[in-house]
Amino acid sequence: MGFTLAVIGRPNVGKSTLFNRLVGKRLAIVDDQPGVTRDRREGDARLSDLRFRVIDTAGLEEAFDESMEGRMRRQTEMALEEADVAVLLIDARAGVMPLDAHFAKFLRKHSTPVILVANKCEGAAGQPGLMEAYSLGLGDPIPLSAEHGEGMLDLYQALLPYEEKAEADQQAAAFEDRKSDDKQTGDEIELEEGEEAVLEDDDPEKPIQLAIVGRPNVGKSTLVNRLVGEDRLLTGPEAGLTRDSIALEWEWRGRQIKLVDTAGLRRRGRITDKVEKLSSADTRRAIRFAQVVALVLDANDMLEKQDLTIARQVIDEGRALVIVANKWDIINDKGEALQKLSDRIQTSLPQVKGIPVVTISALKGRNLSRMLEAVLTVYGTWNRRIPTSRLNEWLAELTEAHPPPLAHGRRIKLRYMTQAKTRPPTFAVFASVPEDLPDSYTRYMVNRLREDFDMPGIPLRVMMRKRK
Ligand code: GDP
Ligand code: GDP
Repeated sequence: MGFTLAVIGRPNVGKSTLFNRLVGKRLAIVDDQPGVTRDRREGDARLSDLRFRVIDTAGLEEAFDESMEGRMRRQTEMALEEADVAVLLIDARAGVMPLDAHFAKFLRKHSTPVILVANKCEGAAGQPGLMEAYSLGLGDPIPLSAEHGEGMLDLYQALLPYEEKAEADQQAAAFEDRKSDDKQTGDEIELEEGEEAVLEDDDPEKPIQLAIVGRPNVGKSTLVNRLVGEDRLLTGPEAGLTRDSIALEWEWRGRQIKLVDTAGLRRRGRITDKVEKLSSADTRRAIRFAQVVALVLDANDMLEKQDLTIARQVIDEGRALVIVANKWDIINDKGEALQKLSDRIQTSLPQVKGIPVVTISALKGRNLSRMLEAVLTVYGTWNRRIPTSRLNEWLAELTEAHPPPLAHGRRIKLRYMTQAKTRPPTFAVFASVPEDLPDSYTRYMVNRLREDFDMPGIPLRVMMRKRK
């Protein structure tokens, strides 16, 4: 999400006040006395329609000793390292102090862009300080009153370019991801008979990209909050951190899991009248950027038309699907409900057998580890690779037991088979006259592959190739 802003300045200029105004909750202790001990805090900020992360560097005032400059520099450097842009706050009522100049000098040399803000500018008392601020050599200062919320529009305008840049960067990165994902998809693949593809390995260091999708009101936000909340308990709550700063990535049983595109989840709250439109576009994007998709259903009303549309999108995009029946706490006859659900899956999504189904209660936090287990399992299957030798043994047995049909009086011969791609497993089969092989036979191959090599629940692909 968005960009990261570091709020920098000497003690008592109003950093925490600004932080609180941006993050929107009275998280931080604001105190008149310098010397109040505080941790560095971070939070998810909002300013009109901007969403960004903000880091407050308050807490420098703990030790007014000779090492203070060093401590301040370290804190500031750490914050700047993570930030896309910094705000240097000065107290316009107090005017420019030596320590402000010290910060300005440091920031002028730093590569992170700086917005100079003269705080406490409400009324007339800040005017001289505002003028003095020009002397810091950081351009026009923005007059602000963090306490009274004045000047926030100017700050908004100063921050806007960083949002745009972050968005462009994100899109570029996503595009790069897609490109490398697509490197070996279906039709571009040029394999000769006897050749083997170099398959992409699952890198266990890389997080699993998980999307949580579903119709409005099925409980997605509740689920995300639960997952993130549990993570906080596991990793130990960090002082000053709240649920606002959503950890989009966490470790579960030794594996990093990252939620992709929760923008749709957040945005929804704000623009209620555009719910349907937004959510289908958001859903499509989330599916494209995900590896595993958890489709959340409302147990009261499972697998209705819109649910099925999303499920089919997931399968068509070749992503691994987990069906999550939420609100299971309010179902009376659970056995019957589960039977109904699995019947519907079998009839409505016949192309993929064995899609994992997990019943949960996001509200009560029930069965969430089962859900994550299913995510990990299906992800493993999605990454499966089968040696060419085993595939060809299998192909020989299959065609012997169930020969392909005749075409123009001659039997179609399937000669050679190899896995062309993982994620999802995709196989190339070389045939004498591939164009004459009926789809029913390809479907039969897919189903047998799924069973014989134990790959339930994920879309498998078989591409027929002309044997040269
Ligand atoms: P920090 O140490 O830089 O984080 O500063 P704080 O946010 O703790 O604020 C220090 C003091 O300045 C507090 O008493 C705030 O109420 C006060 N303050 C913050 N912003 C403003 C403002 O816009 N106008 C005025 N007059 N006082 C402010
Ligand atoms: P979203 O639109 O998919 O993000 O759905 P929300 O998370 O906002 O949830 C919609 C409503 O369903 C809220 O009133 C939730 O409290 C409720 N809800 C979510 N999960 C559960 C659950 O497991 N059991 C019950 N009974 N209600 C739930």
